[in-house]
Amino acid sequence: MTPGWIVPVAAVVVLLVIVALVATRKRGARATPTSLYIEALDSLLAGDESRALDLLKETVRMDSGNVAAYIKLGTLLRERGEVGRATRIHREVSIRPRIDSAACELALSELALDYTAQGNSDKAVATLEELRRRNRKHVFAYEAAAQLMEERGEWDRAYEFRKELQKVVGDNGEALAAFQAFVGRERALEGDAKGAREHFKEAFRRDKHSLPAYLFAGDLKYQQGKLEDAIDHWRNVIRHHVEHARWVYGRLKKAYFDAGQYGKMVDIYEEVLSRRPGDVPTLLAMADFHRKKGDLEEAERSVSRILEDDPEDRLAGIYLGLIQAEQGDTDRAVSALADFVEKERRSRELLVCSRCEHETDELLWRCPRCGGWRTFLQDES
Ligand SMILES: [Zn+2]
Repeated sequence: MTPGWIVPVAAVVVLLVIVALVATRKRGARATPTSLYIEALDSLLAGDESRALDLLKETVRMDSGNVAAYIKLGTLLRERGEVGRATRIHREVSIRPRIDSAACELALSELALDYTAQGNSDKAVATLEELRRRNRKHVFAYEAAAQLMEERGEWDRAYEFRKELQKVVGDNGEALAAFQAFVGRERALEGDAKGAREHFKEAFRRDKHSLPAYLFAGDLKYQQGKLEDAIDHWRNVIRHHVEHARWVYGRLKKAYFDAGQYGKMVDIYEEVLSRRPGDVPTLLAMADFHRKKGDLEEAERSVSRILEDDPEDRLAGIYLGLIQAEQGDTDRAVSALADFVEKERRSRELLVCSRCEHETDELLWRCPRCGGWRTFLQDES
């Protein structure tokens, strides 16, 4: 006969065994390669690279088929300076049989970066070439190859890659024009005027109103003493890119001065202001112009126009004081300068919350807007 206590005790034992089994299985489940990999990605996101590195190593040790983990591991190693190991890993992954094409392209991209980090641009270029063979539309493959060529000063080869890239991404000719304008400028600096002109021509062929080509082609003409041509190019900047007009003011001033037509600068400024009323750089340039000519009243008018739009403009404020002092109007000059000092002082006493950018002129420990603590103390030591 079975004693009465046997049944409950047996039931408890069975229950304990089940709990233990479930717990074991659960512990086992925590350590699958997939969960390790996810943990590694989380660590990467959290910025804990050394933990991510350990987890990735463990992941690939348990599952050598996790190609994404291998590639990430290599990249992390490269970023930590272990370029040789990174290279071996990425190369090994890229030549795996039956690897899917996206993973292979990723491995090749990383391998190209490994070689670049080693300073081995030949191998980097060859790797990118293989990448392009696999995928004719691989943007990185063109971009990175162009950059490598540019670093080597091989502008023609770089341009070929840039042209291919433009076909892939399908943008307008602006980027290619800027490239050609840049190379033209390099040629001009080397004293190769003919080569420079060809590049500028190509720039205008890609973008008929290329801003950099107008600037640099004008510079070349100016260098060669062809003032009128230089002025034409630079005035085209104003015609077609009025928002960048100020980049040609210095250039036009020199050229008109050499040509004995310095007075034409007023027409230029007027033209810009008619299209961009209140343009601050233009009004400042206009003030300079009148002040140099000794027309202080006109200079004051230009500066005052800036202050009408923005009474807080500090450069205009102090400029006004200078002009009034030069006019001998001490009272107004003193008041303009005192005003400037006061504004400058107030702006320096302003503290800005590092969390919400709330401004205050008191030292606070808690931000009244966002509730952040000690957010105004970032500059105090
Ligand atoms: Zn705040």
